[in-house]
Amino acid sequence: MPALKVPRTEAEPVKRKLKKLNLYGGKRRPKREGDFVLLPVLDDPGVYGLGYEVLSIELPLRPERQIYKNLESVLAERLTPEELKYLRRYDVIGDIAVIQIPPELEHRVDDIVWGLRKVHPFIKVVAKKGFHEGAFRIRDYSIIWGEKRLTTVHKENGVEIKVDLSRAFFNPRMKGERYRLAQLVKDGERVLIPFAGVIPYVLVIARYKNVKITAVELNEEAYKIGLENIELNRKRLKGEIESIHGDAFEVLQELPTFDRVISPTPRGVDALALTLSKARKWLHYYDFVHEEKIGEFRERILDECRRQGKECNVRIKKVSDFKPHVFKVCADVKILE
Ligand code: SAH
Repeated sequence: MPALKVPRTEAEPVKRKLKKLNLYGGKRRPKREGDFVLLPVLDDPGVYGLGYEVLSIELPLRPERQIYKNLESVLAERLTPEELKYLRRYDVIGDIAVIQIPPELEHRVDDIVWGLRKVHPFIKVVAKKGFHEGAFRIRDYSIIWGEKRLTTVHKENGVEIKVDLSRAFFNPRMKGERYRLAQLVKDGERVLIPFAGVIPYVLVIARYKNVKITAVELNEEAYKIGLENIELNRKRLKGEIESIHGDAFEVLQELPTFDRVISPTPRGVDALALTLSKARKWLHYYDFVHEEKIGEFRERILDECRRQGKECNVRIKKVSDFKPHVFKVCADVKILE
């Protein structure tokens, strides 16, 4: 099989170009060789006119299921380049694929379902995703293919998370963030997590650390699924979990302080004063902030620290894009005394 020998720094753009020209040999894996990368290409005269050395080498085959890696490249067979621009990111939650379909692609729903099933042969449901609504942050979904259900079990960070997208919030994209927090938490800590949902943060932390965690959630459906999730993971958990159904703004008044408070605050809710008042050493406070207002956000936190007589260091981390120029951010607040 031929392979193109390309300097490492050019590998990505050349790979994209090859894909566009339909010359990329996606069934095989590229290989690093010093400062070069050997890119698999098809046995086609076109590969000789690209200005790179062509070697004859047997690059390893990819496992079958990785061949169609990306929805966009699969759909390039059926959608026009113009239509492809409207394609949104999608998520796979357990065996449910969820995708936003803009009006420009409504007429292509069947092709999109075909593409998703090709990339993820194990999915059983494809759902179209609307926006988060109301205090419980539940999204509006409609099933466009497969079994008529929005419940599934999602695996992440070594735990199983039961979700019901029609009744409770869940965001699989926070996987890395949950892992990060689990690394920060130390054995023996007492941790409070209000706005806990179906308790993904709680489970991941309790999976890795011997801690006592208190979770608070207002949506009764989410709270109940959270209890099921404790049972589902019982054997894997090192930590202990106490789960409370109720309004964080009332329940927290009755609770003691904690070493660490993690607040996955719902958008539009200001729980800063409340959650900081319950934290002894650390507060991780999530919010949605315009990139030009990150400095202001930091000042607001420092003001609140001063108001509560706490000396704090604040570091703001961008966690994900929410919409253009607006990020979901996490303020890691270290309370010195
Ligand atoms: N931590 C979860 C959920 C985050 S979404 C996760 O990452 O998946 C925010 C959650 O806060 C929702 O589940 C919503 O029902 C809950 N919520 C909203 N207002 C609340 C309140 N006043 N008290 C407790 N929970 C609340």
